[in-house]
Amino acid sequence: MTSGDGWTTCARGHRHWGLYGAAGLLITDGANVVLQHRAPWTHEGDTWGVLGGARNSDEDAVTAALREANEEADLVPDDVLPVGLYEDDHGGWSYTTVVARPVGAVRPHAANAESVSVRWHPIDEVDGLPLHTGFAAAWHHLRALPAQLYLVVGGEAGEDNARLDTLRRDGIRTAQLPSGIEAGGLNRLLPAVFVCPDLTSTADTASALSAVGQVVVAIDRADLDLLS
Ligand SMILES: [Zn+2]
Repeated sequence: MTSGDGWTTCARGHRHWGLYGAAGLLITDGANVVLQHRAPWTHEGDTWGVLGGARNSDEDAVTAALREANEEADLVPDDVLPVGLYEDDHGGWSYTTVVARPVGAVRPHAANAESVSVRWHPIDEVDGLPLHTGFAAAWHHLRALPAQLYLVVGGEAGEDNARLDTLRRDGIRTAQLPSGIEAGGLNRLLPAVFVCPDLTSTADTASALSAVGQVVVAIDRADLDLLS
């Protein structure tokens, strides 16, 4: 793996930080979000945005975003659960925002020189802050937190470990989700995957999870084809 630190130029002619693209983490509980007040010396300094930075080669967006949030704000990765992705693709360079909900006590603070402060803000106050250009453009895609997506798998679909790993890591494109699944403004949802040993437990698990989130069931490999 090589470092992605460096400047590059996208297909639109902008200069961007991150040779392999960049990723950021938006922690949200649906009412408040964690934002970083960027240090004055940084690119577009003295603005507010998400924790994040350059992706290393071979580093998926979630891994990069959690690593950067740990470096910049001492965030404990296990204290958040990534629920979806919003990718802003410029051609040759992209910024992926990982939207995550807190599952532990998230008390971020500025942990290195890249931040003046890192703290929770009410969602309704975000538009009143001086925002980093990239975050400002993405914000309306990010502010509606979708309910957790559960992928309940049984039958032969449960044996396709390679594809299930890919779905866990890269998520499911919004356009490929069944109708009725709400993704907010995100273009991918990251499913929590439950592999069940038989069709009865698949149905029971799907029924139980539908009380706490959105559920997609896959039984045949063809069901996974539709999601991949
Ligand atoms: Zn660009």
